[in-house]
Amino acid sequence: KEDGRGTIRAFDRPMAERVQARKSMKLDLEAALARNELRLVFQPLLDLGSDRIVGAEALLRWRHPVRGEVSPAEFIPLAEDTGLIVPIGEWVLSEACRHAASWPVDLTVAVNLSPAQIRDEILPLRVLAAALKAGVSPSRLEIEITESVLLHDSDRNLAILHALRTAGVRIALDDFGTGYSSLSYLRRFPFDKLKLDRCFVGDIGVSRPSEAIIRAAGEMGRALAMTTTAEGVETAEQLAWLRANGWSQAQGYHIGRPLEAPAVGALFRNLDATGARRAALRHPTM
Ligand code: C2E
Ligand code: MG
Ligand code: MG
Ligand code: MG
Repeated sequence: KEDGRGTIRAFDRPMAERVQARKSMKLDLEAALARNELRLVFQPLLDLGSDRIVGAEALLRWRHPVRGEVSPAEFIPLAEDTGLIVPIGEWVLSEACRHAASWPVDLTVAVNLSPAQIRDEILPLRVLAAALKAGVSPSRLEIEITESVLLHDSDRNLAILHALRTAGVRIALDDFGTGYSSLSYLRRFPFDKLKLDRCFVGDIGVSRPSEAIIRAAGEMGRALAMTTTAEGVETAEQLAWLRANGWSQAQGYHIGRPLEAPAVGALFRNLDATGARRAALRHPTM
């Protein structure tokens, strides 16, 4: 009996601590927006056809006053559970557009949206309002979603995605290859872009089966008239392989790490029309 109680307590305490930690993190996240602890960083996107930087993906960062930098892998799920992702996502949209407004007009900005945001019927209006308020054409905006968006309420969510697309916003299927039924989703919505998850790219030169899968995914994307983007490109070898196999875009540490907004702004404004955009990125002078 005594042992039993002790055992239960041993299990109870860490559980209670975890619940408590989540609660306090939730309260902290609620305050994070007002306290200016959230910011966006921007990871450049390379077009392999022209060898030019064509835009960047906005990635959310949270600098907690005590914990320091908290990974989005940790706080985005928390924000999704608590519903905080809606106001935070709204902030991300307007902030991404505000920064993009200071870039050359041919550069695009990609924003990640959570399923909870897609369920919001006025999302298309929110997105357009954010773009118009910043003076950015909706055609410079790209929305990245994962297939989990189409898992529930899918008819409703598809209608919302169609409305966005009609307004000129491009829709990308993110983390392709990591979900449960990617292929059926490709049949149900005309995505503009397919972003292959970085777990495949990391296998280039290492695993023949992975290479075969990347080739097939690229061919499928091209056949469906999608831009094919490979994520997590970390080496020159991976980049050369993707280029040789017809991939249209690449993103990853080898091309450029996510940059703070002032750095990406300075970099983009210094890319001249004729000069080597990629060279500028590899050897940043600012
Ligand atoms: P994601 O949209 O697939 O973003 C790509 C992630 O891969 C980013 O992680 C990026 O920093 C990382 N990455 C890029 N290149 C490389 C590389 O060469 N090697 C490796 N190892 N990693 C690379 P991050 O910034 O930690 O974001 C993680 C995820 O959090 C994102 O995955 C996205 O799903 C989510 N997220 C980030 N910002 C937002 C946001 O504003 N809203 C929503 N809803 N989700 C976001
Ligand atoms: Mg993404
Ligand atoms: Mg991804
Ligand atoms: Mg992801």
